[in-house]
Amino acid sequence: MSIGVVGAGQLGRMLALAGYPLGLEFLFLDRAADTPAGQIAPILCGDFADRGLLGELAARSQVLTFDWENVSVEALRALPRGTRIRPPIAALAAAQDRVHEKRLFERLGIPTTRWQAVESPAELARALAAIGLPGVLKTRRLGYDGKGQAVVRSAAEAERALAELGGAALIYEELVAFDAEVSVIGARSTRGEIAIYPLNHNLHAGGILRLTRAPFAAAALERLAARYLKGALTHFRYAGILTIEFFVRRGRLIANEMAPRVHNSGHWTIEGAVTSQFENHLRAILGLPLGSTRARGHCAMLNLIGHMPPRARVLRHGELHLHDYGKQARPGRKLGHITLIERSARARDVRARRLAAELAPEIRIP
Ligand code: AMP
Repeated sequence: MSIGVVGAGQLGRMLALAGYPLGLEFLFLDRAADTPAGQIAPILCGDFADRGLLGELAARSQVLTFDWENVSVEALRALPRGTRIRPPIAALAAAQDRVHEKRLFERLGIPTTRWQAVESPAELARALAAIGLPGVLKTRRLGYDGKGQAVVRSAAEAERALAELGGAALIYEELVAFDAEVSVIGARSTRGEIAIYPLNHNLHAGGILRLTRAPFAAAALERLAARYLKGALTHFRYAGILTIEFFVRRGRLIANEMAPRVHNSGHWTIEGAVTSQFENHLRAILGLPLGSTRARGHCAMLNLIGHMPPRARVLRHGELHLHDYGKQARPGRKLGHITLIERSARARDVRARRLAAELAPEIRIP
């Protein structure tokens, strides 16, 4: 029996690559065979919401999981009783809608941005009056990597953004003047065991993650983030990896969003932690003991976006790990990443800056 994975992107590919040494088999579902995971594992091709294909995937798998969060909740709910779906559908449903996500954070006592739901010009005016400017108008559903959102600095800009976002249900939130962005990643197994990784320090540009450094040496923030994540893991009786992204402002954490899956800011764990997030996701959904989340050093992960540099050019830097997802190059598309591990945070930052200057000159590493 396989691990059935809905979605065959790079996250699915890295899940399979983590599972093969454990003797696990995989079966994916995605729209095309030529996807990052489809290149290395068997795949069923068709729509994610195709009930026949989902049924076949479930019948051939011991457990179903997903590598992206826009899987149809209705289609998953229609699967035969007894289908093991992990992480739980309730967590997936909450993460798919930014309003549900905000309410969840509030219920769990996790501070989040001030927000209001917006579906009409009148509601937009009310939200602007209550929250003020500047702010961000975002689609409630199907946004990722900065898509489906606009920063607005005046009422006129907000009205234009409302029109451009095309009648979709929206959320308006304050624009947080953050000091940093961090994320916390952890696993809960079906047996209730919890393991949490060191805090990640993330740099975004244009809404897309560009660089993660970990561990982020901020013990108080790390403890707080771990407490919030544990609250969410326990609330859902979760199984698998869960990620929460935060803004840091004046020493406080403000939750931005959560992802009920392995996360781009955890790619450094493949070589940089004792057990990768991908392996721990598999262990968690199968009820196996979780592995240590300890970092082996000071890690940096640089995303390769839009353009894949020649392998030889990257590898001549020495002592780094190159991941090529096997995707067609397209502007703004995540094509691969590089991880480096050093003995000190300083040495890591020096190398990360050198690497970024050559491969991602548009980002500035503080
Ligand atoms: P999201 O799709 O919500 O994860 O947003 C992508 C990125 O846009 C975040 O990581 C931030 O860099 C930026 N961003 C989104 N929402 C806000 C906000 N309310 N305040 C400040 N920056 C934001």
